[in-house]
Amino acid sequence: MDDDTDNHPEGHDHAVVLGAGMTGLLAARVLARRFARVTLVERDELAETGPAFRPGVPQSRHVHVLWSRGVELIEGMLPGITARLVVAGAAVLESPGDFLWLSPADWFDQVPGAKILVGSRELLDWTVRQEVLRDERIRLRAGSPATGLVTGADGRSVTGVELRDGGRLAAALVVDATGRTSKAPAWLAAIGNPAPAVTRYDSRLGYSSRYYEMPKDPTRRWQGLYVQGRPDSPRGAVLVPLDGGRWLVTLIGNGEHVPPTGDEEFLGFARSLRSPVLYDAIRDAKPLSSPTAFRSTANEWRHFERLDRWPAGFVVLGDASCRFNPVYGHGMTVAALAADALDEELGGLELREIPGAARRIQRKTAAAAEVAWQIATSEDMRYPWTEGPPPDLATRVLQQYMSRVMVGANADPAISAPFFDVLSLSTAPEALLSPGTVVRVLSKWRLPTAPATTDYPAHHGPPESADPVA
Ligand SMILES: Cc1cc2nc3c(=O)[nH]c(=O)nc-3n(C[C@H](O)[C@H](O)[C@H](O)COP(=O)(O)OP(=O)(O)OC[C@H]3O[C@@H](n4cnc5c(N)ncnc54)[C@H](O)[C@@H]3O)c2cc1C
Repeated sequence: MDDDTDNHPEGHDHAVVLGAGMTGLLAARVLARRFARVTLVERDELAETGPAFRPGVPQSRHVHVLWSRGVELIEGMLPGITARLVVAGAAVLESPGDFLWLSPADWFDQVPGAKILVGSRELLDWTVRQEVLRDERIRLRAGSPATGLVTGADGRSVTGVELRDGGRLAAALVVDATGRTSKAPAWLAAIGNPAPAVTRYDSRLGYSSRYYEMPKDPTRRWQGLYVQGRPDSPRGAVLVPLDGGRWLVTLIGNGEHVPPTGDEEFLGFARSLRSPVLYDAIRDAKPLSSPTAFRSTANEWRHFERLDRWPAGFVVLGDASCRFNPVYGHGMTVAALAADALDEELGGLELREIPGAARRIQRKTAAAAEVAWQIATSEDMRYPWTEGPPPDLATRVLQQYMSRVMVGANADPAISAPFFDVLSLSTAPEALLSPGTVVRVLSKWRLPTAPATTDYPAHHGPPESADPVA
């Protein structure tokens, strides 16, 4: 039996991170600035040869975009990583500039927005993992599921973790970053702590995704496509370029409109979108896979940060604490924001003070989820079948206002800039409530919130191959 407790009785200079997903990797990176040793405990066996799918991150087969705020934060933690990702085939795109993007209101014009990084999730994880593990203070223990918490003599402070193989790791701080399947509530209950309150909004959104070979077409004037659904037409899709000359296409639908996984049905769904742009792109493209579904997309916040009783030495981060409807593309950026908040909290503490500061760290890192949560839940509440607490008056007013912001952002640079600053989590939502922005938004109050024609955006026009209008 491997038992680090014997080797390091106190574990005082050792932190353990459970889960080597994006949250766990970034948390390990910042913990290594304070602890002499950090162990990343991962349930999956991890390939050492290059990017690879693994069962612990099943969402990797669906489109993942990293908003500019996430890119900046991760670059700050791992200098040079953006360039390495781009060399390996990821791309940093202008959003909406490099896309044909039909919002719930209308097509985005060539307005200023935000940068996003696109690439396969496997490549992103692999590259971040390689960079994180360059730090010799960080050790990876893969193929080793954590099964519970170990407590100290008081029976309440967390002083380590138990592993399925019977091993134990002693640590001054244990970070649970095991994602949506985290057992933290049960582990906390087992050491006498109350369960967290849970807030949940489920718009019953489903994904279905398929890889394609990117057709060679020198005349193509876009890099990606995004057709958003809306409550009266809840079908959408996104297409992004990936490393290896591939496209990844994710179909999106709510309620009865969840997208299918049959080959023909996949194309049929693409054809039924508000614009033919995506169907036109893929109908003759060569599929590289069958479609894969993902259905568990509810927003769910386990409010560990609200608990009055909280053990020393334990923190829950990332999807394990708060997860979002993925359609807004915020989970990885929130993981980076939480790691950044963790870094800031640790910076103000002596090493010996860190275990006792766990409750404060939990509160501060949880705050990283607030804006993404507000965006995702207020948008999901527009769908009448969304399960969750009903919108209050303030949310309904905000929804009305945001509909007009969207109309403005489609074509007005003065509105698109703050809109994308907020959407990329770079700026607080108050930016959309500055007097100048409010006046511009209100000046567009009479414009329709749905476009008259949706086929192709005016700045692009129909493709050369389209049938001439009769
Ligand atoms: C369909 C879909 C699409 C998404 N698209 C986007 C997007 O476009 N942009 C974006 O920013 N975010 C997106 N997200 C969210 C994003 O995937 C997550 O927020 C992000 O991966 C951070 O998750 P995490 O590291 O907290 O958890 P996870 O990614 O779930 O990682 C958890 C890790 O813990 C490991 N683990 C689990 N249990 C144990 C255990 N007992 N012991 C040890 N290890 C364990 C798992 O194997 C895994 O490696 C999407 C999510 C979904 C579901």
